[in-house]
Amino acid sequence: MNRLYPKCHPYYNVDGEKVMNKRKMGPAYTATGYMLPCCFCDTGNSEWKKQFKFYGLWDEHLKVENVDNIEEILTSEEWYYFHKMLIENPAAAPHVCKWKCSIQLNEKITEKYVDTTNEL
Ligand code: SF4
Repeated sequence: MNRLYPKCHPYYNVDGEKVMNKRKMGPAYTATGYMLPCCFCDTGNSEWKKQFKFYGLWDEHLKVENVDNIEEILTSEEWYYFHKMLIENPAAAPHVCKWKCSIQLNEKITEKYVDTTNEL
């Protein structure tokens, strides 16, 4: 399997060092009223979207109209678990994450991906 470097994460741990993600993507607001970790989560066929539904990101209680502020969504258990899974169990990541945010095992993570000069 390739290595996953989620564009929705602000930094990575590379060889024990915390480095800034240069390709960072912010959360997306969908036409149906949900926040998702990035716009890729709302693309592809219905089978792909089901993989995000599995993690609860499309649960009704996380719809923007059902919360008092967006922070409730971004800090929800569902979002926490999803982001934890991306780091700790990337094999379980949705197909679109593997497609959009992985690099080949033999590819070195370089300045193209991370900025080691910035203070975190
Ligand atoms: S595709 Fe997945 S891993 Fe990549 S930025 Fe979006 S949610 Fe994060």
